[in-house]
Amino acid sequence: MFIAVFDIGGTSIKYGVLNEEGTILMDKAFPAEAHLGGEVLIQNVIAKSKELQQEWALAGIAISSAGQIDNKTGVVVHATDNIPGYTGVRIKQRVEEATGLSVTVENDVNCTALGEYWKGAATDAENFLCITIGTGIGGAIFTDGRLYVGARFSAGEIGHINLYPDGKPCTCGDHGCLEQYASSSALQEMIKETFGYTINLREFFDRLRTGDPKGMAVYNKWIDNLTTGLKSIVHTLNPELIVIGGGISAQGDFLLDPIKESLSEKIMPNYQVNLDVRIAQHANQANLLGAAKHFIDQKGG
Ligand SMILES: [Zn+2]
Repeated sequence: MFIAVFDIGGTSIKYGVLNEEGTILMDKAFPAEAHLGGEVLIQNVIAKSKELQQEWALAGIAISSAGQIDNKTGVVVHATDNIPGYTGVRIKQRVEEATGLSVTVENDVNCTALGEYWKGAATDAENFLCITIGTGIGGAIFTDGRLYVGARFSAGEIGHINLYPDGKPCTCGDHGCLEQYASSSALQEMIKETFGYTINLREFFDRLRTGDPKGMAVYNKWIDNLTTGLKSIVHTLNPELIVIGGGISAQGDFLLDPIKESLSEKIMPNYQVNLDVRIAQHANQANLLGAAKHFIDQKGG
């Protein structure tokens, strides 16, 4: 069985073909052109789906997407202005009508969690939290081996945990949210505020590895922000595992070790007993895997 998979983000649209064992047979990407809006984006996905349909005997199409997604009807419940006009787009219906194939759609961070649960860092966990750190901070919650999506498919928006009530304005309309202080973009802002100029994150981490004290102070403050947010979630959900994804997770133990250390100082002892923190294993491909897993689960294998 071949499944076409898409991962719709604000910057690029990754796509590929998987089999039911989760082997990625091919994967590529094209620019999302998100500024052109949700309608252009969905037309691009449909055009690429038709191309794949010519080359592969597809059983269906599995889509991972930015935004809050009704994972049954495949409708975008809410999307930010990163993709104008994306809210309300009936992804599943549109792609099904255009291709005649069955289509499933799930939120991208939920797909990261599903992908890591199926084939990655969380294969041995039933109660875990997956967070993705990038421009913002996304979250997905697994309880008893199942994704928890909430009453309106919007659970796990941990980027909007409040850290500083009178803090920086946030995209959600409130102030002082975690993602304004602990995302990759927030780290970049803190670096600029401290050094007076921009340093890209790869160069910044190179500096830290050579022992830059000024940089280290910025990094420690950023870690402290992140673990203050994580502390609230650990005490709410009592997870056995936190999986960390997003571009910054490429830093591996250099990210993981200070998070573990800082978090263990903040949470009550009982919560530490069965708590592990790991880096996501599949980086860019977790969402493709997770979308396929969602498809297989919905279509009964
Ligand atoms: Zn917010």
